Amino acid sequence: MDRDAAASGQAAARPGEINIDDVPVGEEWHSPLYAMACRQFARAADVLALDDEVRVRLLEPRRSLVVNFPVRMDSGDVVNYTGYRVQHTLTLGPTKGGLRFAPDLGFGECAALAMWMTWKCALVGLPYGGAKGGVRCDPYALSAGEMERITRRYATELIPMVGPDTDIPAPDMGTGEREMAWFYDTYSQSVGNSVPAVVTGKPVVLGGTVGRQSATGLGVVYTIESMFEELEWPINDRSFVVQGFGNVGAVVAQELHARGGRVIAVSDIRGAIMNRHGLDIPAVERWVAEHQFLEGFPEAEPVDGEELLELECDVLVPAARESQITEENAPRLRCRLIVEGANGPTTPAADRILAERGITVLPDILANAGGVIVSYFEWVQSHQKYSWQALEVRERLRAHMRDAFADVRSMAQQLEVENRTAALASAINHVSEAAKLRAIYP
Ligand code: NAD
Repeated sequence: MDRDAAASGQAAARPGEINIDDVPVGEEWHSPLYAMACRQFARAADVLALDDEVRVRLLEPRRSLVVNFPVRMDSGDVVNYTGYRVQHTLTLGPTKGGLRFAPDLGFGECAALAMWMTWKCALVGLPYGGAKGGVRCDPYALSAGEMERITRRYATELIPMVGPDTDIPAPDMGTGEREMAWFYDTYSQSVGNSVPAVVTGKPVVLGGTVGRQSATGLGVVYTIESMFEELEWPINDRSFVVQGFGNVGAVVAQELHARGGRVIAVSDIRGAIMNRHGLDIPAVERWVAEHQFLEGFPEAEPVDGEELLELECDVLVPAARESQITEENAPRLRCRLIVEGANGPTTPAADRILAERGITVLPDILANAGGVIVSYFEWVQSHQKYSWQALEVRERLRAHMRDAFADVRSMAQQLEVENRTAALASAINHVSEAAKLRAIYP
C-alpha cells in the first residue's frame, strides 16, 4: 500500500467488520463493539428492572454525524478522509468525549464509546452526556502538517455540532494536546473570538489545566489504591503488568513505580518488554522519548505482546485498546486483579470466565474516569477564566475517584453482582432518573 493510502486507512481491512445483511435498517451504528456495550447495558438494566421505555431512550445514540472531507497530503495528492461524531444522550447536560484517530475507526465504535462515556460521566457525577468521535486515519503514518490539516478540516466539519455548552471534545487514542490546540484555534477562528471551553486537554498555556495529561493514569492508580486498602495489600510488595505505554499506560507504570510497585512488563503496539525484578520505568520512559517504541530497551527481555496479558502478576492493567481480554485468553490469565485503563478491553464472554475464576475486574467506566473528571475541571476553569493549582486538581480528582469506588463496591454488595454491572447499574439509575424527570418533549 502506498504511504497516502496507508495514512488514509481507506484501503485497510476493517477488523471486526460485520456483514451488511446483519445490520438492522435504521440502526447503522451497530457493530461488534456496540453489541458489546448493549450486552453490558442489558445485564445492568435487568438487575435494575428498568422499564422498556427508558431502555430504548438510553440505548440509541441521540445525534450522529458522518463526514467525508478531502485533505491535501505533503506529496500533493488529495486523500478523502472519513470522520465521525456521536452524541449518546443530552439528558444531563452538554456531551463530552474524546477524538480518536485510528486506521480502523468506524461509526459503531464511536457509538459504543459514546455510550460508555455517558455511563462514566454519570457514575462520577459529572453534568454531561457521553460523546465520541474521530477520523479514520493512521496518525503514525502522517506528518505534523498532514495531521494539522486533517484536524482543522475535521473541526470545521463539526462546528454545527460542537460548542462550549453543546459538545466538548477531548483527546483519545492518536490525539493529544497538539490536536486540541488546533481544534480550539479552528473553532475560535470561525466564531471570531477565543473559546477555550470548546475542548479540554489543551496545552496549559492555552487555558488547559495542570494535571490533565496524567489524570487518567493517576485515576487508575487511585482506583488500585482504593482496592488495595480493601484487600489490605501494600503496593510495594505487588507485581504489575501494563498493556499500552501511551497517555494512560505510561502514567500508570510511572505512578506505580513511584509508589514502590514492581512493574514487571509493559507493551506497546510493536511488542512487550519484561523484567521479573521490576522495570526501571523512568529509564523506559527516556528510551521511548528517544526511540518512540519500547523495542530494544536494554535492561529487559522482549516478550510477545499477546503473551504479556498471560504473565503471572498481581494486577493486570490493560491500557491500550478494546477487546484484548477475550473468551480465548481469559482462561489463561494469571493475574488476581484487572484494572481497566482502556475502554472496553474485556469482552462480556471473558467477564463471565473471569468471574468464575475469581479474578476481580475494576471496570473502565470507574478506573479510567480520571481523564474526564479533570477534563471537567478544565472546562469549569475555562468558563470561569480562573486557574486552579496542581494540588487542588489532584485532591479533587482523588476525592471523585474514591467516592466512585465506594459507590461501585457498595452497589456490588447490595445487588450481589460483579463490579462492572454494579458500576453500570449506578450510572444507568442516575441517567434514567434524570430522563424520567425531564419527561418527553413536547
Ligand atoms: P495512546 O494512543 O496515547 O496510547 C496507546 C498505547 O497503546 C500506545 O503505547 C500504543 O502503542 C499501544 N497499543 C496500541 N495497540 C496495542 C496493542 N494491540 N497491544 C499493545 N499495545 C498497543 O492512547 P491512550 O490515550 O493511552 O488510550 C489508551 C486507552 O485508554 C484507549 O482505550 C482509550 O480510549 C482509553 N482512555 C484514554 C483516556 C485519556 O485520557 N487518554 C481516558 C480514558 C480512556
